[in-house]
Amino acid sequence: MPASSRNKGLDRAITRRDFLDGVAIAGSALLAGRTSPASAAPASPSPYPPALTGLRGAHEGSYETLHDLRDPAFWTDAPAPADTGETYSLVVVGAGISGLAAAHHFAKARPGASILLLDNHDDFGGHAKRNEFEAGGTHRLGYGGSQSISSPAPYSRRAKALIAELGVRVADSERYLDWSIYRSKGLRQGFYFDSNTFGSDKLLSHQGRPEFDDTFVASAPLSETARRDLKRLTTERFDPYPNETEAAKRDKLARQSYLRFLLDAWQVDPVVAALLQTRPHGYYGVGIDAVPAQDAAGLGLPGLQGLGLTAKSGPGQNLDSIRSDEASDYFFHFPDGNATLARLLVRSLVPDAIPGRGLASLITARARYRQLDCPDSAVRIRLSSPVVRVRHRDARRVEVTYRQGNRMKTITARRVILACWHNVIPYLCPELPQAQREAMACGIKVPVVYTNVLIRNWTAFERLGLSRIIAPSFWHTSIALDFPVSMGAYRFPRTTDQPIVLRLTKAACKPGLSARDQHRAGRQELLATPFETIEASIRRELDRLLGGGGFDAGRDILGITVNRWPHGYSCQYNSLYDDFWFEGRTTPAETARRPFGRITIANSDAGAYAYADGAIDQGLRAADEALSMK
Ligand SMILES: Cc1cc2nc3c(=O)[nH]c(=O)nc-3n(C[C@H](O)[C@H](O)[C@H](O)COP(=O)(O)OP(=O)(O)OC[C@H]3O[C@@H](n4cnc5c(N)ncnc54)[C@H](O)[C@@H]3O)c2cc1C
Repeated sequence: MPASSRNKGLDRAITRRDFLDGVAIAGSALLAGRTSPASAAPASPSPYPPALTGLRGAHEGSYETLHDLRDPAFWTDAPAPADTGETYSLVVVGAGISGLAAAHHFAKARPGASILLLDNHDDFGGHAKRNEFEAGGTHRLGYGGSQSISSPAPYSRRAKALIAELGVRVADSERYLDWSIYRSKGLRQGFYFDSNTFGSDKLLSHQGRPEFDDTFVASAPLSETARRDLKRLTTERFDPYPNETEAAKRDKLARQSYLRFLLDAWQVDPVVAALLQTRPHGYYGVGIDAVPAQDAAGLGLPGLQGLGLTAKSGPGQNLDSIRSDEASDYFFHFPDGNATLARLLVRSLVPDAIPGRGLASLITARARYRQLDCPDSAVRIRLSSPVVRVRHRDARRVEVTYRQGNRMKTITARRVILACWHNVIPYLCPELPQAQREAMACGIKVPVVYTNVLIRNWTAFERLGLSRIIAPSFWHTSIALDFPVSMGAYRFPRTTDQPIVLRLTKAACKPGLSARDQHRAGRQELLATPFETIEASIRRELDRLLGGGGFDAGRDILGITVNRWPHGYSCQYNSLYDDFWFEGRTTPAETARRPFGRITIANSDAGAYAYADGAIDQGLRAADEALSMK
């Protein structure tokens, strides 16, 4: 065994190029992942953030000030803010898709108006984050968060209009995304059974949904009882509530988790539930223990087929009832995910910041970060600038204080849009009514991790016949080859001997707790886990999964970017835990997004809907409210 294989290559420097003023610095992802003291001031803006590897997403330096703000002693210890004298027509707090869409809408309605966007990260886009890798002359893109134009409910007319205005023809998606590359190589989905849960370690491939594939089930390390239960669950038209009305059935399904439904109504072997446990991760950030049974069909999970459910009945929204063909057809994936939407918006606001014209040129264009905040530009974007206070100075002006390095700075604006996370707003804007602050605090965001791993080639996947693997017991529970997408000058590696990006995902959850408690626990876990620990698990687990195909983490991993999001998806309501779901009364998000004086509220949190269209809709609404102010 080569030396590098014994310790999974942890002793090797990953080839990485961080560009500082155009000078390439070779370094190790291990260094990039080092943590800094918790209360360190934000670092000065990195000149080219997309190429930074190691721990990204909520990176070191982006969140410490906002965590400190929770401490009542914050203002006692903080340096006195200096008034910069800057004044704007509009200040937007948060340069994610929502804040950018709001600024775009405002700028269109008031050409030449002075607008400043402030964000605590060293890059714009919020969750819509671009990752770049360079290795041996190869340039690869990846997405560090918001993945695709895709939503369980149809995009609104306004959100679609903005996407079209930005030059994206969603109907052309298949021109760029070529799944035949994987199909032609016979690559399928895989599932990794681990000995702790299933009695033996085994990697099996399947076609479509694993529980519906007879060959897969027959080869799986499952007892005869578990196999029989899986067959019953997927084929029988069993109705556990035969004498109930449809509304009563839906009510029952809304009040019990899918796990309980499997164990109580279907009485399946618990191993069957373990097989399905992580299926809702991508939507909910929790497993089947914290997802209502009513959402099963929307998630493609079996068991509701015999209940005779027709249309939606009862209040609230759920995946099952809001999924539609229109929504499924409206799909588009860019090589850097929805970061392209953020970049299109930035280009429209600050044209000098991203050279070129048209969508094709944007994909590989390198943003000029220094152009984002130029005094001679009507619109400015200021990064690494967490906002710590927003308050009315008088009836016509709002004062905004932010931190930059070790200094506090104050500016004023005629109006402010808070497009940042609702959980921070109560701390930075204590003058909001208490009911509104409480409504904001109730939306616990969902912690998730999107990791990109650049590997030397993908021959191991070809040998194993796999393009994606679910491994429920691993740190990252989903491991997949990147979307096979080519756009503009960016080309997906069609042959398996070329470097490719692997996308690894994790929902940081703690099964057994309520969904919100799982999110709180997951957030703590993510903040406490150093990059070195994550890197070690990536190397160990990829070797375990792919070793049979000849993969060697020590030799084959070229770069790692862990996009950790302790505050990830917006909180969506869940009938298991939110009583108001049944009552049809005002939701916390409706209370949270009320305008207050010259301050309006955006962000996907304002719609309790964790998708880019939610971010856009809320941004446009908040901008309209700001425009209505004299
Ligand atoms: C891993 C992941 C995958 C996702 N995948 C998809 C997907 O495939 N499709 C989809 O539609 N949606 C997806 N989403 C949802 C995503 O949240 C939305 O698509 C959208 O990007 C949200 O935009 P936003 O502007 O509302 O919020 P954000 O992107 O969170 O932007 C808000 C910004 O405000 C900043 N901020 C917060 N507080 C302050 C402060 N005090 N001062 C300054 N700045 C502050 C934040 O740091 C952030 O940069 C995903 C989210 C995550 C985390």
